[in-house]
Amino acid sequence: MNKFDVSIFRKHFPLLDKKVNNRPLVYFDNGATTQKPAVVIATEVEVYEKFNANVHRASHTLSAKATSAFEDARIEVQRFIKAKHLDEVIWTSGTTAGINLIAQSWGHENLQPGDEILLSHAEHHANIVPWQMIAEKKGAIIKVLPLTSSGVIDENLLDNYFNVKTKIVSFSHISNVIGKVNPIKRIISLAKKYKAITVVDGAQACAHLSLNMESLDCDFYVFSAHKMFGPTGVGVLYGRRELLEAMPPYQGGGEMIKSVSFNGTTFDKLPFKFEAGTPNYAGVIAFAASIKFINSFGLVKLAEYEQQLTKYCYEKLTQIKLVEFVAEGKPDIGVISFTVRGSHNHDIASGLDANGIALRSGHHCAMPLMEYLKLTGCIRVSLAAYNTFSEVDFFIEKLKLLIQSTDENPDNIIFTEKVTGQVSHSDNEMEMIERFNQLKGWDSRHREIMLLGKTLDRMDKNLCNNTSLIQGCESNAWLYGSKNPQGEFFFRCDSDAKVIRGLMVIILAAFQNMTSQQILMFDNHAYFDELGLTQHLSPSRNNGVKAIVEKIRMLATQV
Ligand code: PLP
Repeated sequence: MNKFDVSIFRKHFPLLDKKVNNRPLVYFDNGATTQKPAVVIATEVEVYEKFNANVHRASHTLSAKATSAFEDARIEVQRFIKAKHLDEVIWTSGTTAGINLIAQSWGHENLQPGDEILLSHAEHHANIVPWQMIAEKKGAIIKVLPLTSSGVIDENLLDNYFNVKTKIVSFSHISNVIGKVNPIKRIISLAKKYKAITVVDGAQACAHLSLNMESLDCDFYVFSAHKMFGPTGVGVLYGRRELLEAMPPYQGGGEMIKSVSFNGTTFDKLPFKFEAGTPNYAGVIAFAASIKFINSFGLVKLAEYEQQLTKYCYEKLTQIKLVEFVAEGKPDIGVISFTVRGSHNHDIASGLDANGIALRSGHHCAMPLMEYLKLTGCIRVSLAAYNTFSEVDFFIEKLKLLIQSTDENPDNIIFTEKVTGQVSHSDNEMEMIERFNQLKGWDSRHREIMLLGKTLDRMDKNLCNNTSLIQGCESNAWLYGSKNPQGEFFFRCDSDAKVIRGLMVIILAAFQNMTSQQILMFDNHAYFDELGLTQHLSPSRNNGVKAIVEKIRMLATQV
């Protein structure tokens, strides 16, 4: 096979040569989802354009063609994960759905009060919440495996957690924050000793490791197509045949039955017993195209290139003094998580976004891990084989600039005037709109938001409490309101993220000194449109804005 050439590989992904915020897109959020190659997009379109028909149902030609492509995709997955039997491959909508299926089917059938489920501190919410739900129903107990300082499940402490009551061990092959391979062999062999079942969350591993279900010898393995250049809404549950055969169906409906009568229903054989309803057959067929696409380059080749890129990025990051990694040592795959001392992770992420660099900040759907690491959140770079060394250089350069600019340098502040004073709310609002209208592009608007953040007075620490806390804002944020005898409101607010502080100044420019009636009638969507901000704010920032406005409205009806 030829040497891997990233420039050729990259060309397959139409989105990668697009601009975001007027800058070439640097997509470093592959742990959340990967971009899709043209062949995957074309395959899904082809299904709908050329042979769209429901699978397994009709006797007509189109349905036969769709069914055959759908079942061929199952064979493709079986080969990809080296499962012994074809009927061990169950289609789901993703990793989350797979874990819920196991919890609700196997867990519901087998768990007894007092039984124990082992998870680890590094699990994604998808591998925590389904277990909490079934544990509560069945009176089972969840125990949490500790991590080493390098962030993997601590092998040396495993013996303390296994006992005869252990029924399920469910853990990630690779955590979506830590990026390191857990001691999977050792955990599986201990589980076997105690006759516990093993559930492996392979969401992060499936795109980077060659999988072999037979040699891994776990009981269940779950993953999602969208993390490996495939479509969203498709996933795989691999399960050992004997276990799957003994499990009751999770959902009932069409497709999963042999016969239905009001005297009783019989269920179909594997794998259909677990595939109730019309499946996402177009997605499944496109998923097979993504596996063929990976195979045409060679998963090992892609992984080798990713390794070089990860090492390069990691080493560059180690040279930045204020960068602190969430765990010791270089990750095994291109998932690198860190914080920047003195900067909020959302401020760094939104500053990078203004430069076209997409990466993730926050809790990464791993709130218990953040608590364990004593972090409010972190920044995650997650790489794929289409990322380049020059993208890493650009990211490092912009990160360094951002870190420098967070120094409290008064020369950086263009907009020093406080906008929260005792003037009419509409003057402040108009002034804000005029200022933003003079700015071109998201980069300069983003800079202005950050500078505004610096102008907001810090709120008294005593006022930053549960009453003033803004629910639904991903950063810590507080808002406190008082009303004068004329019925006008005066708000004070604060946040640990500069970008949120800046947005607060903008919001208060409109709401400060309003009466409760004016507050309730104010159209904040139109205001943000006029500022030219609506289309640029990320979903989490938009949620933040919504949460601040809701808190203001709530206070306006209560104070
Ligand atoms: N588990 C891990 C480790 C993940 O990284 C993710 C997604 O990021 C999931 C589970 C959930 O995957 P999905 O949303 O595709 O169901």
